[in-house]
Amino acid sequence: MAPEPKTLALVAHDRMKEALADWAEANLAALEAHRLFCTGTTGSVLRKRCPGLSITRLASGPLGGDQQIGALIVEGRIDAVIFFIDPLSPMPHDVDIKALLRLAVVYDVPIALSRRTADLFVAAGLLTA
Ligand code: PGA
Repeated sequence: MAPEPKTLALVAHDRMKEALADWAEANLAALEAHRLFCTGTTGSVLRKRCPGLSITRLASGPLGGDQQIGALIVEGRIDAVIFFIDPLSPMPHDVDIKALLRLAVVYDVPIALSRRTADLFVAAGLLTA
């Protein structure tokens, strides 16, 4: 029996969007099997770079997109989060980001905050559909 597709949340802060797009391109075959939710601008960048991906765009992060992903986590609809954060820039929506990270831990949803941890998800078979 074929394994079920997963639902992944992919988000990147502005200075990390190219890095996430590079990572997505490098892992295209794995990602194509899954449903993806992205915050608004991240979703636009990924759609442009990887048009074959199945992406649902939410609101932009500063306008509530991170909170929407948090709500999806609460509803049990997210299997893993890949969130390339920018650790060197202040964010106006810092509290929303913190809430998203907190909910991922509360609901024990795996969350990768950098390329190397995202690579570990792949190596661990987390993105194998
Ligand atoms: P964005 O949001 O994809 O709309 O830029 C991400 C974020 O800043 O949390």
